[in-house]
Formats: sequence, C-alpha cells, structure tokens
Amino acid sequence: MARYIFITGGVVSSLGKGLMAASLAALLQARGYRVRIRKFDPYLNVDPGTMSPYQHGEVYVTDDGAETDLDLGHYERFTGVSAHQGDNITSGRVYQDIIAKERRGDYLGATVQVIPHVTNAIKEFALADTDDLDFVLCEIGGTVGDIESLPFIEAIRQLRNELPRDQTAVIHVTLVPYISAAGELKTKPTQHSVRELTSLGVQPDMLLCRCEHPLPDTERKKIARFCNVRPEAVIPALDASSIYAVPLQYHAEGLDDELLNHFRIESDEPDLSRWLDIVDRYENHEGEVTIGVVGKYIELLDAYKSLNEALVHGGMANRVKVNIRWIDAELFEQDDADITAQLEPMHAILVPGGFGERGSEGKISAVRFAREHKVPFFGICLGMQMACVEGARNTAGIADASSTEFGPTNEPVVGIITEWMSEEGLQKRKVGDDLGGTMRLGAYDAKLSANSHVSRVYDGKTDISERHRHRYEVNGEYRDALEKGGLVFSGMSPDGLLPEIVERPDHPWFIGVQFHPELKSKPFDPHPLFARFIEAAIKQARLV
Ligand code: GLN
Repeated sequence: MARYIFITGGVVSSLGKGLMAASLAALLQARGYRVRIRKFDPYLNVDPGTMSPYQHGEVYVTDDGAETDLDLGHYERFTGVSAHQGDNITSGRVYQDIIAKERRGDYLGATVQVIPHVTNAIKEFALADTDDLDFVLCEIGGTVGDIESLPFIEAIRQLRNELPRDQTAVIHVTLVPYISAAGELKTKPTQHSVRELTSLGVQPDMLLCRCEHPLPDTERKKIARFCNVRPEAVIPALDASSIYAVPLQYHAEGLDDELLNHFRIESDEPDLSRWLDIVDRYENHEGEVTIGVVGKYIELLDAYKSLNEALVHGGMANRVKVNIRWIDAELFEQDDADITAQLEPMHAILVPGGFGERGSEGKISAVRFAREHKVPFFGICLGMQMACVEGARNTAGIADASSTEFGPTNEPVVGIITEWMSEEGLQKRKVGDDLGGTMRLGAYDAKLSANSHVSRVYDGKTDISERHRHRYEVNGEYRDALEKGGLVFSGMSPDGLLPEIVERPDHPWFIGVQFHPELKSKPFDPHPLFARFIEAAIKQARLV
C-alpha cells in the first residue's frame, strides 16, 4: 500500500512547496521508489484554465488534456512521471461535482455539508489510483490559516486516523526570517504557524524551514521543542544556487533520510548521479547564448515557466548558459520602435504562446526580422500562427492576412475550428462557446514529412505526440499559397487536416509548432526542439 506525504505551507505563500514536493519525490525515486505528486488548490475556479497568467502563472497542460497548476510542471520535470487529470483538484471542482450530484438527487435527501461530503471528495481524490505506488505526495496550496484551505486540512486530519499507522506523514514548510537590525533568525512565525496547524488537529511530523541564513543548531532545537517534533525533523532549507540543486541540497540536510526514518523504512543510499550531472551541466557551461523571447506576459516570468525551463534544458544539452531576454512585443508596435537595435544582439528569436490581439503586430515584426536576417526562429502555438500570418503577408502577397482571434478578417490564415478528431471521437465546438475547457487540449499525434528539418530534429521520427492548448488553427486552405512563399507545412495531424508544424527550408533554423513542446522537456531529457534550437543559436553566436 502507498504511503502518503501531505505537504502544507505556513507563514507566507511562495515558499516553494511545489519545488520541495518535486525534489522530495525525486529523492525517493533515486532510491528506487515509485512516486506520484498531487496538488490540492483551495481556490474556487474549477481549474486554472481561465485564470490570467498574470495572476496565476502558466497553465500546465497534461497529456490527458487537464489544465492544471504550474506546480505540476515542476513535478513532471523533476520526476519524469506524466501528470494527469486526477493529479490536480480545486475546491471549485469538488463543489461542482458535489452540486451536480445533489441536483441529480444522488444524496437521497441528505443535507449536503462540508463534513462529510466535501472532505470525503477530497479524501477520495487523494487515494484514487495509487495501488501501484510506494509514495503519494499531496501538496496543499495556500497557507495554513486561510479559510479556503480548512476542508483540505480537515481531510488530512481524518485520513491520518483512517489509514494504517505509519502510512502518513505531514511536512509543514515554513519561513524563518532574518531580522538584519537584530542580526537574528526568528522562529516565532514558525511556532505560530505550527500552532495554527495543530489547532486544526494536524501535528506535523517534519518541518522544512526556508531561511536565507544558516539555521544554527540552537534555533533548530528551539523550533523542535516548541513545535513538538524531533530536532532531526527540523530541516533547514537555504536558498539554492538553482532549482536543480534543490534535491541535492535537501538530501544533504537529511530530508529524505528523516522521512524514511519516520516511516521506519530501511533503505539504500539514493543514486544521485542524475542530479549531479544536471547541476554540473548547469553550473559548468562552456559558453553563452542570448535568446530574445518576444511575448506578452513578460512582467511575470511564471507565465512562461515551462518555456523558461525548456530553454535552460536546451542549454544543458549543449553545455551553454542561456540568457533569456524577455521583450515586450508591444514595444515593436510603437512608431519609433528600433526593432533591429533590439533584436540584432539576439542569437535566436522565439515567439511563445499567448492569447489575444495585443502585441500581435509586434510578434509579426519579430518573425519578419528573424526570417529576413536568417536568425534562428522558433514559434510556439501563437508564435507559429504569427509566423504563418507573417509569411502570408510578406512572402505570399496576402496583405490582409490575419487571425480571426483578433476580429473579423477577409483572409483568415488562422481561424477557429469547430470540429476535430481526438481519441474520444469527434470533438465539436461552437464559435462563442464558454471559455473554460473548450480548447484543443492535451496530447495529439502529428505526422512529420520525411526528410524535413523537423523530422531530423526528432532524430528521423515521423510520428510524434505533443501537448496542445489552443482554440485557433492555421487554415489549411492557405497551404499552397504559403508553401509557394517558402513556408512549408512539414507536420500535419494524422488525418492531414490540421497544420501542426511549419518550417522554412531556405532558412538556417525556422520552425513553428502548433503545440507546446516546452511542457515535456526535462533537465535529464531536454526536448529535441529546444536542444537543437539552442544549438542553432550557438552557431549563430559564432557567426556574428
Ligand atoms: N491564442 C491562440 C489560440 O487559441 C494560441 C494559443 C496558445 O498560444 N497557447 O489558438
């Protein structure tokens, strides 16, 4: 039977619980255990799909088409275990299910309440499909003390009694701030936060204390005494040099050893060679490249979390440091914009995914610059769509080319599709449907043309599967016109209807993809598109 590790957070948000969960799972995996990580989000949105990237960062899409919290991206990048629909639940989804059942009369007239109905639904979610696992890590979003997270903490409390003894652990992540005026680390916020948690009936077994200065032994003992845990179970967590150094650092502080002690499991030392190699590649690089990312949500880097990581992985694959310049596409739309001055220093240009018209003309200008100056170009999702609009306007003579996403147009080179095939059969949408859950989402196959640039990138493969999240498609009716302009459709959906990949054979590296390859890149398995894109940037760097 699987053991359950519940991870809560206290004192403040943004303590990196997701990274902590991912790192702990990686350490358990390094000892040969089978792991899965789940995220409970206390907010009332049914999923993060409709939330602004500014509010919530990127929406991470799974193979089975779930729109999930970005922490699931960390989980996948650190463990390689593909997340699925059942790994992220929100209060909104719990209530949606319960209210649907209530309307159907499934509760047979009973009064529907937080305890037991909401807590039961949360417990079922935690326990579902875990038979073949050794450890299930459940991260509770938010901070202990929030009104919204109460049903989740209550569900943990109940599970602690219902599961066999020694099958559960609670790790509480807290902050130990440093007050520079006093020159001291302060343990009081941690004490208060643990008191809050215990007042809800949950005594943590371990504390992970985020701190900017080393935690002296005296303070560690003090925290242990006041918080009712063993001193060895107080794990200091100093800021790491990079996120990929976190597993090694937590191991050095005893996190996984102490957890296994708690479970009374004797285990061999972990094989950490994978993480040592990753850190070595990240820290000991042999050069640098600069990539210009021309996008919209540049103020909040979490909005492009997976993209940022995938570029770093591409750097690791080539042992170079990747400097990312985030460029606001709207700047290129101003009358006095000097696009050349901004983009000339870039060794490669990437136009990422996005939604809405704002900044689109700037992105089209960036594509044009990359095409005309033969700078490596990578367009992802909206970026591919903009590469097609640019190609239509400037190489195929279709001056009015646009996307229907930006309003009515006579030349819909990119348009909405209302029907497509998925593994579940024919999917249909109406123009003007609800925004939530109405996109082409999740893994879809694509067929690559043999001998195309992109099939070489994928090591000669012609069948691939990648994750999608978009409502609009490049319009196949423009294929001939665009190909005459040099933009070749080198990847299509298996039925041959939906363009998946475009490329320019007369350009050193110009690829646009309708999917999001960044979602599947891992530090120990960089995505080939990113590995080869960075390689092209290295070549460019030597040219200029
Ligand atoms: N807005 C575009 C669409 O919905 C692209 C989406 C994206 O880049 N993820 O098709």
